[in-house]
Amino acid sequence: MSMLHGRILIVGAGFAGSTVARALAEASHTVQVIDRRAHVGGNAFDEADAHGVLVHRYGPHIFHTNSEKVWEFLSRFTEWRPYEHRVQCVVAGQRYPFPINRNTLNQLYGLNLDEAGAAAFFERVREARDPVRTSEDVVLNSVGRDLYEKFFLHYTRKQWGMEPSQLKAGVAARIPTRTNTDDRYFTDRFQAMPLGGYTRMFQNMLDHPNLTVRTGTDFADLDRSAFSHIVYTGPIDAFYGQCYGALPYRSLRFEHEHVPNVAQYQPVGTVNYPNDHAYTRITEFRHLTGQMHSGTSIVREYPTGEGDPYYPIPRDENEVLLKQYEALAAREENVTFVGRLAQYRYYNMDQVVAAALVAAQRICERLRQ
Ligand SMILES: Cc1cc2nc3c(=O)[nH]c(=O)nc-3n(C[C@H](O)[C@H](O)[C@H](O)COP(=O)(O)OP(=O)(O)OC[C@H]3O[C@@H](n4cnc5c(N)ncnc54)[C@H](O)[C@@H]3O)c2cc1C
Repeated sequence: MSMLHGRILIVGAGFAGSTVARALAEASHTVQVIDRRAHVGGNAFDEADAHGVLVHRYGPHIFHTNSEKVWEFLSRFTEWRPYEHRVQCVVAGQRYPFPINRNTLNQLYGLNLDEAGAAAFFERVREARDPVRTSEDVVLNSVGRDLYEKFFLHYTRKQWGMEPSQLKAGVAARIPTRTNTDDRYFTDRFQAMPLGGYTRMFQNMLDHPNLTVRTGTDFADLDRSAFSHIVYTGPIDAFYGQCYGALPYRSLRFEHEHVPNVAQYQPVGTVNYPNDHAYTRITEFRHLTGQMHSGTSIVREYPTGEGDPYYPIPRDENEVLLKQYEALAAREENVTFVGRLAQYRYYNMDQVVAAALVAAQRICERLRQ
C-alpha cells in the first residue's frame, strides 16, 4: 500500500530533524515537526541576549565541512560569513595556539624550530603506542607526556569526568598536531557562520507549505498511530524507555555573561583552560558572528554528569549497550533514527546533515514501495 500521502512525524527540530523535514516536504510528503523545547534549531539555537548580542544558548557552534553536498544544501537557507575559528590554550598563565603547532612548541620551550625540526621534536618526545586504542594512546603516541599533561590530560578529565585511558581513540583523534604554523582550529574546505544566525537558517529551512512545526511538544504526549512514519532524533535509549539501562551522556552547564563597554574580551573565539578553573573554556561570540556592539558576550562551559544529553560518551561498554538498542531499532518498520542522540554518535553538524539527507532519501524510497 502506498503511504505517499500519510503524515510523517519528525521528533526534534535540530539539524537532523529539520534537514529530514525539508527534504521530505520537498518530496511532497506532509510533515509534522515537533520539539519539546520552545524553539527550533536544537543545540545550534542562537538568539540575542538581553543586551542584543547574538549568542549560542547551548555553547559555541562553528560550522565547517568538506562536503559540497552539505554546504550546498544549507546554502539554500542562509548566506554565510566567512569565519575560521582559532583557539588558544592557557598553560601556566600563558596563552598558546591550539591545536599544538610549531609556534606552540617554539613558545612553550623557547625554541626556534622549522617544520623539519618540529617533526623531529615530536618524533623524539612521542611515546609510541601499538595498538592505539584509547585517547591517552593517541596523544602520547603523537606528542609525548609533557604536552599530554599540559594540554590534554586535565582538560579531558574535566570535559568527560574520566581518564583519557578510559575513552576511545576517536575522541582525541579529532584534534590534530601540526608541524607547520597553521593556527586554525579546523582546516575544512568550507568554514563559515550563517550570516543571520543559525535560528534564522532553521526558520528558512522549516518554511515550506508541506511542513508544520510545533515547539513545546513532547513525543510522549502524541498519538503515534496518526502517522505513517516517525523520524526520531532524540536519545535512542529514551525512545525505548531505557529498557536495557541508560546510555551515558555528558552534559554541560553554560554560564553566559555580558561584559559591557569592552570591545574585545579575549584575542580569539575560544580560550581553553585545561588546568585551571572548573570550566573548560570561554568563548566570545562576537569573534564568531562579527557583530558590532559596544560590549561583548561570553560563555563559560562547566562539564557535568547531570542535565540535558549533549555528548555521547565514546567507550566500548557504551557501544555494547548501543548495539542492544540498535537491534530493537532495526526491527522498526516505520521509525527512522537519525542524529547525534538517536545514533549515539559524536557527530558534528555537517555529519548530522549528511546522515539526515541519506535518511530522507531512504524514507522516500520506502514510502514509494
Ligand atoms: C557544546 C557543544 C558545542 C558544539 N560545537 C559544535 C561545533 O562547533 N561544530 C559542529 O559541527 N558541531 C558542534 N556540536 C555538535 C552539534 O551540536 C550537533 O552535531 C548537532 O546539533 C546535532 O543535531 P541533532 O539534530 O542530531 O540533535 P539536537 O540538536 O540535539 O536536536 C535534537 C532535538 O530533539 C529534541 N527532542 C529530543 N527528545 C524529544 C522528545 N521526546 N520530544 C520532542 N523533542 C525531542 C530536542 O529538544 C532537540 O531540540 C556541538 C555540540 C555541543 C553540545
